[in-house]
Amino acid sequence: MVTPALAIDPTLAGAVELARAAAEAEAAGLVGDHLEVTADDEHVATHFFATLDPAYRGWRWAVTVSRFDEGDQPGVDEVVLLPGDDALLAPAWVPWSERLRPGDLGVGDLLPTTADDPRLAPTFLSDDIDDAFYELGLGRVRTLSYDGRVEAAERWYAGEPGPEAPIARAAPAACATCGFFVPLAGGLRQAFGACANEFAPDDGRVVAVDHGCGAHSEAIVLPASPPPPPVDEYTIDEYGIDVVGGPLGHEPGSVSDGDTAEPLGHS
Ligand code: SF4
Repeated sequence: MVTPALAIDPTLAGAVELARAAAEAEAAGLVGDHLEVTADDEHVATHFFATLDPAYRGWRWAVTVSRFDEGDQPGVDEVVLLPGDDALLAPAWVPWSERLRPGDLGVGDLLPTTADDPRLAPTFLSDDIDDAFYELGLGRVRTLSYDGRVEAAERWYAGEPGPEAPIARAAPAACATCGFFVPLAGGLRQAFGACANEFAPDDGRVVAVDHGCGAHSEAIVLPASPPPPPVDEYTIDEYGIDVVGGPLGHEPGSVSDGDTAEPLGHS
């Protein structure tokens, strides 16, 4: 059933100047053309005026007027600024917990979880009893649920720590066979570990077993340098000297003990 449109009280419809004066009282010089009047009730109507404030493009002054009954003069109920169809509006408000994105958390920030966060489950409900005992030993109230593990695994596997990362595609071998690969504990152990090679780009990060990089422990094994000879095998000539010219008229050449020549610098 279609509700019939309310008839506008003709006295209220004619109270344009009363409504404009009320709007001007709020924002002198910023009230523009009269746009329309609508009926809110039998003796209640709202007049709309354009706003001339450049900061509120597309907004409209809405002045509601009313009167008690047919014999009364109209009065002003309220004056507000309302957005029109083409008004410039701020984006819809989103709770901060939904606005956060990976990487937004900074030093000192806190990111609480909700009690029913689907990524977490009470530890005693863990589907891996060994993990449950392990986690209980750490004293944590909740640990990753099955959903939480799957979400993390899919995210990691599809990203930089996964096998499709450019560095992994060019790697000589996978992390699974690398000596720097430290498997994770718990349900993600089969697929992920941490890289412990300080020269690898992923040092200290989670990597998939089929990720990889050029710093793989077995990629290139450098040949050992030959060791230096023992000290007592050095040959030290403590007797011969080289004469490079001097006041005694010797020709340059080697002399030995017993020669009358003295080394340079001796008196
Ligand atoms: S050094 Fe490279 S191959 Fe080895 S665990 Fe780290 S990322 Fe994987």
